[in-house]
Amino acid sequence: MLSNKSIAAIMLPPMIAGMIALTINWRIHKDMEGVGWWPAGTALSIIGVVFRALEGELPDGVSILLADMFIVGGQLLVLLGLCRFAIRPVPARGAILVFIWMILGASYFTWVDPQFVSRTIVFSTALSISLLLQAPALVALGRQEGFAGVIVLAFVYAFGLPILGLRIVALLVKGKLPSLNFDTESLASSDQLNQIAVFIYAAVIVILRAYGYILLATNRVTARLRQTATVDVLTGLPNRRAFDEEMRRLAPRVRRDRIRFGMGLMDIDHFKLINDNHGHTTGDIMLRHFAGVARSVLRDSDFFARVGGEEFVLVIADTNAAAFRQAAERIRHAFAESRIPVPGGDLRATVSAGLAISAPGEMDHPALYARADEALYRAKAGGRNKVELAETESPVPTADTLTVQNAVPS
Ligand code: GH3
Ligand code: MG
Ligand code: MG
Repeated sequence: MLSNKSIAAIMLPPMIAGMIALTINWRIHKDMEGVGWWPAGTALSIIGVVFRALEGELPDGVSILLADMFIVGGQLLVLLGLCRFAIRPVPARGAILVFIWMILGASYFTWVDPQFVSRTIVFSTALSISLLLQAPALVALGRQEGFAGVIVLAFVYAFGLPILGLRIVALLVKGKLPSLNFDTESLASSDQLNQIAVFIYAAVIVILRAYGYILLATNRVTARLRQTATVDVLTGLPNRRAFDEEMRRLAPRVRRDRIRFGMGLMDIDHFKLINDNHGHTTGDIMLRHFAGVARSVLRDSDFFARVGGEEFVLVIADTNAAAFRQAAERIRHAFAESRIPVPGGDLRATVSAGLAISAPGEMDHPALYARADEALYRAKAGGRNKVELAETESPVPTADTLTVQNAVPS
């Protein structure tokens, strides 16, 4: 059988490399919760493997028990870090149970009834469960921040856990560790080669796992940068850049399905006066309030962004003039009816909107924007607190466009 010293010789270099990489990762992402526990947990596991290697030089009970405690404890620290990182509750009860099971089992099968097989089963189940406890946090992270990193870790566990499972089953059934049965006539001992192969596999998994954790942190940076670049800080709405992206995203669908889309510009009335009379802080509160009101009367699929100081844009795909006007009217009405809570009493304000609808399949959004802007100008000139719709331009009038034009008095 492979000695613990040989196992340590295979496992320690990749574990140390992983720990170094995770330490650097921690220094880079100091502001993220939990990432420091990843190198710390790996360090504990390394100490555990070193204790294993000291077998023979320390009393058996000490080297084995300490080794198992450090290896499983290290895994649990990594788990703690992952839960912190994902802002998920730490499965404390499960972790404590795993640890107690490991200590009791290892102690019993070392001192009371020394048995290699049973002790290894206890150790492997403790390790497997501590890895499985990561699953909810990984699923949550994948949903929230995307699957880079999570996929790597899913692979790691998809290939790592069966090995642990196989060990447990083989020990239970045959009373010995599984062997890959290479044909190794020319080598000294096929049994040793088989075991070395298993541990090389485990070593690769150790490296891949460190890479998976590092990707989790990198992925979070990417998600944050994306958020910073596309979300307006004051209102939390998508910003101008996100609007441009939305137009690029919409283009193929508009052309392929020959749909119409509506573009509406909204501008708060006499906003300068509000700023001048009540101060910019009040102006900002009003902008946030307006964003909240608009979002609350829109559908999730409607796109609503802040594209300028107090200018907003509404984009609804696959709509018609009547429906689009209705959506804009809902915003105008809800805002006009609402009271805006500002220091020193509630305020009221109104908003004007200019709308334009594309011809089916037309994707010239700057032209549509310009038409919506003209309609907005008319709404302002016509007394404000109004929704105006630009005439639909269509190169070839169809029955559809005729009904649209007829539906809207101009
Ligand atoms: P109108 O009814 O014609 O739209 O009149 P208005 O006073 O709203 O005119 P306009 O749309 O030109 O005014 C824009 C004002 O919005 C000017 C600027 O001081 C203010 N503004 C732009 N960005 C912000 C912001 O982020 N916070 C605050 N408080 N004010 C802003
Ligand atoms: Mg204005
Ligand atoms: Mg304006």
